[in-house]
Amino acid sequence: MDTYYFDHNATTPVHEEVLKEMLPYFNQTFYNASSSSHLLGIRMGKKIEDVRKNIANLLSVESSGITFTSSATESLNTALISIFNLYKTKGNHIVACTTEHKVVLDTLAYLKTLGALVTLIPVQHDGIIDLTELKKAVNNSTIAVCVMLANNETGVIQPINEIAEIAHHSNAIMVCDTTQAYGKMHVDLNELNIDVAVLSAHKFYGPKGAGILYARKKNPRVTLSPLLHGGLQDNALRSGTQNVPAIIGMNKALEIAIQNIWENTTQLSKLRIYLEQQLEALNLIKINGSTKYRLCNTSNLQFSNLTSNKFIQSFPQLALATGSACTSILPEPSHVLKAMGLSDLEAKSSIRFSLGITNTMEEIISTINLIKNKLIA
Ligand code: PLP
Repeated sequence: MDTYYFDHNATTPVHEEVLKEMLPYFNQTFYNASSSSHLLGIRMGKKIEDVRKNIANLLSVESSGITFTSSATESLNTALISIFNLYKTKGNHIVACTTEHKVVLDTLAYLKTLGALVTLIPVQHDGIIDLTELKKAVNNSTIAVCVMLANNETGVIQPINEIAEIAHHSNAIMVCDTTQAYGKMHVDLNELNIDVAVLSAHKFYGPKGAGILYARKKNPRVTLSPLLHGGLQDNALRSGTQNVPAIIGMNKALEIAIQNIWENTTQLSKLRIYLEQQLEALNLIKINGSTKYRLCNTSNLQFSNLTSNKFIQSFPQLALATGSACTSILPEPSHVLKAMGLSDLEAKSSIRFSLGITNTMEEIISTINLIKNKLIA
């Protein structure tokens, strides 16, 4: 039985060229980038700094603001926890959106136990943040506004420029989870006015275990503090021996993702539009989330009279998700869809298709036929 993988928002395969680039760093040039007592380690350290500069160029930011981490989860925890600890003199108020990833929501729940005041801004039915409510909530004691660029469950893209303007008006730090955006849309951290950004390599055809935490270094400088203590790697913001092969792979993956962005988004849009149009023509689905401001690869589809669990059981050939990878073991309906005003039943009848660059039109056509044959008896 052929299986079609439509769960690229959970993770992507490592690109062939990325793998090739990484391999020598496991057993040939395997040295510790912090070993400054010999030339091999010094060269490794230099290589990591070159990669940092290249990544900074790709992101249009300064290289001193780039920290290598293990994941978006680590980057978001570091950012939010350290902002709360370091900006207490300004205030204890953090603003986020109801549809943020659980990493953000759970970190903020933890910060609440330490005295943070957290406001979660609602979204409209299309999944886009309510800017009027945001304006009302942000005030002089707000230290950070944390809103993701693109949602992992629905693909809905938030108006980060406008959100950043509201944050900056009250001198709050604009923290943006860009984990799902790279490789699926054009992103320029500078243009978007983001102060702190978070990326994860395995979402853009890089390896697992590699993430980026970017913090603005000037106009104004954002100061962060480490979660992990010990070594002095990454300007002491992220102690621990650097994961050289993963960092090298992440750099290559980001390079390829940015280089091929127009080609890939065109191809992914074509597949997604065809899938949605065909299923809509059969009266089988409703699309959850904005159809205008949405990632080219993501379709969150509500099937009438069929729960997502039943759907997934009925189609073992399709690798799909009912929500985010991290929360798919939870029996509750998606917090993202609920925040958009869907009922429990509507949320539980919704499935996420997240397409990737190796998917083909043949796979999409076979999938439509499978669904048609089973659901239109
Ligand atoms: N933020 C978003 C929007 C995500 O989709 C994910 C992963 O699904 C994360 C954060 C966590 O990423 P990581 O697996 O790199 O920790």
